[in-house]
Amino acid sequence: MTLPSLNKYLRYFHEQIPLFRQNKYVQILVLRETKSYAIFTTEGDALDTEQLQAGYTDTNAKKTIDRVVMFKRKQIAPERRTGKALLRQFGLVGDGNGEPKSSPKACYLMEGMCGECPDCVLYGFAAVQGESSQKSRLLTDSAFTLRSYTQIQKMIKLNAIQDKTEGGVAGSAFAERDTLIPQVFLPCVETLVDVTPDEFVYVLGNILQTTRYGAEANREGYIRNHVVGISFGNVEKLSNLDLTQRLYDKLAGEGQLADALHLSQFINADGTDGVILEVFEELLSALPGHSLAMPNPELKALLNEVYSIYNELDNSQDFLTRLDTAARSYANTKNGRSRN
Ligand SMILES: [Zn+2]
Repeated sequence: MTLPSLNKYLRYFHEQIPLFRQNKYVQILVLRETKSYAIFTTEGDALDTEQLQAGYTDTNAKKTIDRVVMFKRKQIAPERRTGKALLRQFGLVGDGNGEPKSSPKACYLMEGMCGECPDCVLYGFAAVQGESSQKSRLLTDSAFTLRSYTQIQKMIKLNAIQDKTEGGVAGSAFAERDTLIPQVFLPCVETLVDVTPDEFVYVLGNILQTTRYGAEANREGYIRNHVVGISFGNVEKLSNLDLTQRLYDKLAGEGQLADALHLSQFINADGTDGVILEVFEELLSALPGHSLAMPNPELKALLNEVYSIYNELDNSQDFLTRLDTAARSYANTKNGRSRN
């Protein structure tokens, strides 16, 4: 039942969700691209920035730039919501109407996580009453923009005119928002540890199908996630900042960072080569530990297999039901053990 493209990589996965760590890593390289104005503020109205080393080459290593930060919670929370909504659509997680909070299917992000559904078991949860907690098997980090803050931000005025009959501008509220412009790229890695092939497909599905990220619902921006590489191994090699700084070196060296970036500057239209894959392979071979990158044609085939699950409702339902059964059986085993 595993996707055919994963057959040669089964040694990097578990048949069943394991109770103990074995450090089987799968790293997904994602290039996030803003397709509209986006706001990644945590508090206040300013974008979060960090002054960081521009790159590693001699000239770039001495230079620092202010990079806009997309914190990890801002990346993962929307993806969890995508997956959870799908599970709910097929009745695998409660919809919050009807079932009591004690129902095994009721699961609410933040306030009452069930500890048994695929989301809780994979992405983790804090201790639930009477049960142990679950560490996330998905590791992520904050992401950083390639170009500097001043190149990719804009103050946008929100003009909220109150609809009052007395007219005039007295009731108008002006607010300026520090906003990220479209076509900003953030290289990211999502790392999975000790997962089953189905859990990996679930995470890929969540990455590929999530489009809204950012501040509160009414200020979210559209982001397109390009899955550009996958590596398997027993160590965690790729980090977001490393990728950003190495990409910076390549693109700055060719003078490409002065103007807006295009996807074609990272990956060739046919999906072969491209700067981001060069950097990906450089990092894998430079760092210690076993790793294996999935060749590009295989990655394409894998993504098509994932689409064929998610493009059809029946396939989605079958897949998610199987995923749900496995998660609940793992949770029962784990809880049974911790009670003994
Ligand atoms: Zn849950």
